[in-house]
Amino acid sequence: MISEKMKGFVANSSAIRAMFEEGQKMAAVYGADHVYDFSLGNPNVPAPEAVKDAIVDIVQNENPILVHGYMNNSGYPDVRETLARHLNAQFGTQYGAANVIMTVGAAGGLNVVMKTLLNPGDEVITVSPYFGEYRAYVGNFDGVLIESPADPGTFFPDVADMEKRISEKTRAVILNSPNNPTGVVYPSSVLKEIAALLERKSAEYGAPIYLISDEPYREIAFDGVEVPWLPSIYRDTIVGSSYSKTLSLPGERIGYLVIPSELTDFANVTAAVNCANRILGFVNAPSLMQKVAARCCAEKTDVAYYDRNRKLLYGSLTEYGYTCVKPEGAFYLWVKSPTEDERLFTTKAKEDEQILIVPGRSFGREGWVRIAYCVSYETIEHALPGFKRIADYYGL
Ligand code: PLP
Repeated sequence: MISEKMKGFVANSSAIRAMFEEGQKMAAVYGADHVYDFSLGNPNVPAPEAVKDAIVDIVQNENPILVHGYMNNSGYPDVRETLARHLNAQFGTQYGAANVIMTVGAAGGLNVVMKTLLNPGDEVITVSPYFGEYRAYVGNFDGVLIESPADPGTFFPDVADMEKRISEKTRAVILNSPNNPTGVVYPSSVLKEIAALLERKSAEYGAPIYLISDEPYREIAFDGVEVPWLPSIYRDTIVGSSYSKTLSLPGERIGYLVIPSELTDFANVTAAVNCANRILGFVNAPSLMQKVAARCCAEKTDVAYYDRNRKLLYGSLTEYGYTCVKPEGAFYLWVKSPTEDERLFTTKAKEDEQILIVPGRSFGREGWVRIAYCVSYETIEHALPGFKRIADYYGL
């Protein structure tokens, strides 16, 4: 018998994962070249060569007891120091090892933060559409996820709406920019408005409302758009990130949190994060990958690869008559469904054209779909005629 709570999670289990698995089955039937799987954010760009070199060198030349052993639950101090210096060089900050905590991907980091902050019934606000796993990460610790719909035109946060949803139960706000699923990058003007709102509300309720900046796509931004550093805008910000997307290492489960010293209750928060990493059973982030991250943190993924895909997909779909949000970051295209119930569109795409795309309701927004374009250029090229036939079918 499984727990009542787990029954709920299983029943609402990730539609994206289910689709990915269906895609694998379809590939066995139609042949991998005839299935166009845009479901999962699994990068198709290989990790930089430097990652392989680092793994080989560390395994061959460093002390295996240290490389594969336990360490402080927050990670190797020298790795954390290296990442802190790398951040300081980019953002003009003064972080040290104490401000960086190594985690099991961004997902592990977010769970650690939720465990650290939430009492049962506490509320966490996020902007919808949103990465659907937030619901589970908040629910894991008996918190309640509150959705604040994005501005329907820009898909930026609607600060006036967010204000209405803040109460004395609000413990945190999660922002994700560059955004999954919309591909938008939040401008500093909007972030400053949110900061002012949270400062005001924190003062009103006499307790900090923490801002959690979930930014695994920070380095995947196009056309020179700026991705603002949120701790420089709002004091009570915790940043969560990973190397899943920016170094194409999603299966290696390596990420980190940045907790600035100015954060309210810094000493207790960092002690609790350290403890949460351990008692959630992560114990610590993967040891070899921590060392790889320290050596490769300045490496870049092939942003031009994603940009080329973006241009082809966005350009073509817009030309066929689809309404799309022009992505400025990450590797997702957010497209308005040509029919009201977007599940009819995704089913048609799957059954008639072997194109796998994800219904917007997986991200808390009906009537839209997400297309993950972290695939090969050829996959997009070969899928385009199918998208065109569907556009014609719906009379776009
Ligand atoms: N946050 C967002 C917005 C994501 O899209 C993802 C993964 O797709 C994650 C967090 C989790 O990333 P990780 O693989 O580093 O745990």
